[in-house]
Amino acid sequence: MAIIGSGITGLVAALHLARGGRQVTIFEAREPGYGASTRNAGYVGRTLKHGFGELMESHGLPFATQIYGELMEAFLAVKETIESENIACHYNQQGRLLLATGSAMYEAMAREFSLREKHLREPFAMVSRAEQTKEIGTGHYFGGVKIDDHAGLHPGLYHQGLLDAARAAGVTIAAHTPVLRIARDGAGFIVQTPRARVAARDVIVATNGYSGDAFPWLKRRVMPFDAYQTVSEQMNAERVRQLLPGDRTYIDWNFNVDWLRRASGDPTRIIFGGLTGGRNQDLRIMAERLHGRLMRIFPELSDLRFDHVWTGKCGGTFDLYPHIGSHEGIHFAVGYCFAGVPMGTLFGQKLARRILGRKGGESAFDRPMPSNPLYWGNPWFVPYAINWMSRGDR
Ligand SMILES: Cc1cc2nc3c(=O)[nH]c(=O)nc-3n(C[C@H](O)[C@H](O)[C@H](O)COP(=O)(O)OP(=O)(O)OC[C@H]3O[C@@H](n4cnc5c(N)ncnc54)[C@H](O)[C@@H]3O)c2cc1C
Repeated sequence: MAIIGSGITGLVAALHLARGGRQVTIFEAREPGYGASTRNAGYVGRTLKHGFGELMESHGLPFATQIYGELMEAFLAVKETIESENIACHYNQQGRLLLATGSAMYEAMAREFSLREKHLREPFAMVSRAEQTKEIGTGHYFGGVKIDDHAGLHPGLYHQGLLDAARAAGVTIAAHTPVLRIARDGAGFIVQTPRARVAARDVIVATNGYSGDAFPWLKRRVMPFDAYQTVSEQMNAERVRQLLPGDRTYIDWNFNVDWLRRASGDPTRIIFGGLTGGRNQDLRIMAERLHGRLMRIFPELSDLRFDHVWTGKCGGTFDLYPHIGSHEGIHFAVGYCFAGVPMGTLFGQKLARRILGRKGGESAFDRPMPSNPLYWGNPWFVPYAINWMSRGDR
């Protein structure tokens, strides 16, 4: 059994397959966890680029309920995994505050979350602009929506826990071993690396935003886009409490989001990210731009320095849905559009169930996966696509 990619998706699939009796090797082009799974913000929620109300209108209530039901399954899968594997990763159901960047957005959020409460029984609370300073020390936003059970975790520690569990279950991790090609070989496959040709009965591709030439069909369907994140220098913990008195995970409700939270496990630093799809790869320039965006929220932080800035690749799809499926016998799960912590965990489990022939592998996200005639896997296209998709934010 060969798995390509050692992020959350690959590790969770590997863990369950190894426990199901399969001999599993993960091939990782770089060091384990090189991808987005260790670079993210650790938000654990029920997030999709398509709103519940939009899905109700376009596809009907049963479809919307099925899709959002699976988001709940993914959300719960993270907690269960952390508990069953005993992973110390600061998992905390601290709640999320979704923030409006205009009054029309605030009204739209009220409509969307009322529908979710009515049909999915997911409670929420509207936080008005006047009340928001109890949650976040700024007047920049127009209020928002608070969802109490959403969680945060430390992504590096979550990944490390999954890696340890997979190794303990007998999974082999072949680090610094890029897969160059996957070819059919009778009933199975040959996985070609620079050092060897390896026979495998089944193959999973779990490369998300790092998908490349090993599986060209997938490369044409997943757009890699860069997201940028910073961690501040240490501040007085009291100052952090004044900035983020609700201690939630904070994110705005735009298509192209800014996000902000206290660093997990560290009361003296904040994490701030955004500029997804930004064209400039120079991290110093991106840090300056992020600093400018943070100043709009907290003008009093003009003297704040970031200790680190980094980037990671997300995987976007042309229909803005995550996808799980198989093509010509090769299994894959990708396209999480910023929800890969829960969705990667769930899809890793589902891929393993499918291959082991167990129940629970079916998914509402196993749908035809579109490409675009203009897109052959060249990232020049991506900033234009993101710009087009974010036009509503402006
Ligand atoms: C800055 C940032 C913030 C984010 N914040 C959040 C968040 O708060 N919450 C959330 O849910 N999601 C978030 N995401 C998204 C989330 O991190 C990803 O969706 C998720 O980690 C994807 O996991 P994965 O296992 O599918 O892929 P990845 O973790 O990206 O792993 C893919 C791996 O495949 C390897 N690979 C690629 N090609 C090959 C090859 N040919 N051979 C061998 N190996 C190969 C890569 O080296 C990489 O290690 C964020 C992403 C970023 C970048």
